[in-house]
Parts: sequence; structure tokens; C-alpha cells
Amino acid sequence: MGKNRLKQPKHKKLLHLFILLISLIAISIVINLSLSKKASTAISGPQMDAVYKEVVVSTLSFGDASAQFPSFGIKEVDTYIEAYIHSRLTSLHSSGEKKAITYDILHYSQQTLSVAFTESGEAAEIMTFDLKKGAILAFEDLILQDQVSDCLELLAEIASAELKENNHSSLSAKDISKMTAPKAENYSQFIIYNQAIVFNLTLNDKNETYQLAISKQLLDDWLIDDYRPGEHHDDLSGNYEPANIITDRPTKESRLPMDEKVVALTFDDGPKAGITDVILDALEKYNAKATFFVLGSRCTANEDLLKRMAEEGHEIGNHTWDHPKMTSESSSAIVEQIDRTNAIIGQITGTAPIIFRPPYGLYDERVSSFVGKEHLILWDVDTLDWKLRDADLVVPSVLSAVKEGNIILMHDIYPSSAEAAVEIIHELSLQGYKFVTVSDLLEIKKQRLEESNA
Ligand code: ZN
Repeated sequence: MGKNRLKQPKHKKLLHLFILLISLIAISIVINLSLSKKASTAISGPQMDAVYKEVVVSTLSFGDASAQFPSFGIKEVDTYIEAYIHSRLTSLHSSGEKKAITYDILHYSQQTLSVAFTESGEAAEIMTFDLKKGAILAFEDLILQDQVSDCLELLAEIASAELKENNHSSLSAKDISKMTAPKAENYSQFIIYNQAIVFNLTLNDKNETYQLAISKQLLDDWLIDDYRPGEHHDDLSGNYEPANIITDRPTKESRLPMDEKVVALTFDDGPKAGITDVILDALEKYNAKATFFVLGSRCTANEDLLKRMAEEGHEIGNHTWDHPKMTSESSSAIVEQIDRTNAIIGQITGTAPIIFRPPYGLYDERVSSFVGKEHLILWDVDTLDWKLRDADLVVPSVLSAVKEGNIILMHDIYPSSAEAAVEIIHELSLQGYKFVTVSDLLEIKKQRLEESNA
């Protein structure tokens, strides 16, 4: 080797040096590029947080995006927060947003710690950690197993009633039912106080939030022991305790339009794409609720329509699996027609129907005793839309026939029916009618009767 090198001519040595030099320059360019791509990361600190004394505050920046965040000396908690900050900074940096992430400690007690992160003043995320377990808490961690969906149902009921009453952001009914729907993700940001849990609801994409303070008494059947009232949840940060704590379920009266002129629109034999959606759009526009008596056999192909009905607060009723004359069916076939339809609707929407309408209005003792007399629903106004197939004929006859408290029968499988429904909803709204679901109509009638007897 040494011999060979000695033998190399001088210009070849120079060439090698030159190649080496070029390579070094290239490598340093690559390193620089990748650095500027990954952004400069600078960590400064530690400083101590003013509220929670044992916190070490660090700052980190990726290009124009920067963050100030706490470490608590609890490995799992710190790792979680660091990962969150890294992921947000990466995302802000790659989309070129010049945002500054800051944090606030909202509450801490012996048991839990809640930290809110904001991005240039906009609410981003509230995290609650269990300090004893060293873990972030999800909604499901607070609630006994198998009770999560019951608890979510109650929260949805309360949240929806509250938002309708305090609708400062003029949210649409659709937005409210979407944001308060009984899903864990809607209730995943919370703060645990001694006597209450405050849920931070995200109102829309504009980062508006609503604080829903629920008394722990209301959640008594479901809370895991660690999160029940007790000194270990007393606030140590000196921050406020929640105000306006909700201690009662919303009453039915507060939700139902008891003193209004009410009517129930019902649509049978669907859902059908291109028809049902048109009706749903009109209902949404007039903040009207309706009832859809669907066929089980049509549900799987129209899952999205079924989910939309449920999400937008309409009632879904059972209209059998495939529309037989129930009076001609065997007893076991009757049961199967109803059960199979309830099961598929329950599977898709999370809630099985309570009410049933027999095809052609035909039923006998076997049918009515199986579904329960009070759940068997017929109609007051037959629009004959299935026969006339002409909105110009259907609309006037409905408008002349309809009275307060009526149930109106239509079919969401014909384009002419959708057209008629849109006009009927518009006209009856002008006349001051409120459209309610069949179950709400029955409840309103029942309460009015109780009142008049009292
Ligand atoms: Zn039918």
C-alpha cells in the first residue's frame, strides 16, 4: 500500500484531495439542509412554575413555532407532554404557522393534575393526569366498566339542554347534537374537582369551548372510587373552584315545547338515498324533528342516512324487516320481523327503536301485545302520497286536513313525497307549527292531560 501511494503521481494526489474536499462540502450541505428542515431545536430552562412549585418549565422551538411546557418529575406524565409538544410543533412548523404554545395549570390536587395548552391564545387541549397512577386520564378511566354508555347518555342529555339554553354562539341544532352526542371523544377533556367534574366541550372548529360543570352526585352510580368526592381532590393551586354546578337532570318539560302547536311528521318505508336526504335537509333548515319508520332490510345499505337521523335528533321507528302483512304472518315470523329490525337499527345507531308501525296499518292481538299497545303507532292524516305521487295534490290536502297534535303519514321513497314534505314543512312552520317526534308528541299529550286533570 505504502509503496503504491508513493508511486502515485502528484496530480493524482491533488485530485484525491479535491474529491475529499468536494465530499466534505456536500456532506455539510446535506447536514445543514436536514437541520434546517428539522428546524433548530433549542431547549432553555429550567424555570419554576408560579402555581405548581415543583415544575420545571422548558422552552422549545421548531422554526417559527415555539412552546413553553412543564415537566413534573413524573416520568409517564413528562413523557406524554413532551411527545404532545413535539407532535404539535412538528405539525405547526410543517404548515408554516408561527404559533406559540403556552400552558396553564388549571387545577392540581393530591390525586390529579390538569394542564391546558393554548396555541397563540387559542384553546388547544386540556389534559388531566392521575398523579398517583402516573397516567393520563381518558373519559373511560373515570367510569365503571359497562357503565360508560349510560353515563355518556346522561352527559349528552345535560350538555344538549344547557347549550340550547345558553346558545351564545348561535349554534345550529345540528352542531349542538353533534358536539354533545354521547361519544367519549366529546367528553375527553375534563378537570376533576372535589365535588364536580368540569367537562370542556369544543363547540366548533373555531376553538370555542363551553365549560359544563357536573356535580359528582349526578354521576354517583358510575364514578370509579378514586374520583368520588374527597379531600384528595381539593384544589392546591389556589385557582377557582367551578361555579354553576349542575346538580339535576334536565326535566322533560324544559326540553319539550309544551305550549306550542305541535305536529308529528312520519316517513315510512325508507330510508332511500336521494329522497330521505332531501327531507332531512328541509327538517334541518326549519329545526324540525320527525320520525322515520324504517324497514330493517334497507338499513345496511343506508347506514349513513340512519346515523344522520339519529345524530340530528329524529326518532327512528320499526316498520318491520320487509313490509309483510303482519296479520298473515305466523307468530314466530312476527317476532322475527320486529326483532331483526330493532337489532340492525341498534347496531347502526346505538339505540334500538321503541315505537312500531305495522305495514298497511294492519295488526292483531299478537302484534300489539308483542310491541306493547302504547308503542304501536298509526296516524291521523294520511297524505296518500304513495297513491297521488304529485306534490301539487298532496300539499293542499294535507294543509287543509292537519290539526294540532296530529300524526302525519308520508313515505320517504318517492321524489314527489320529498317535494311535498319540503313544502309542508315550510307552510306549517309559517303557520306556527312545531315539528316533534312521535314519542315527544305522546309525552306532550300525556303531560297536558295530567295538567288538565290536576
Ligand atoms: Zn309501509
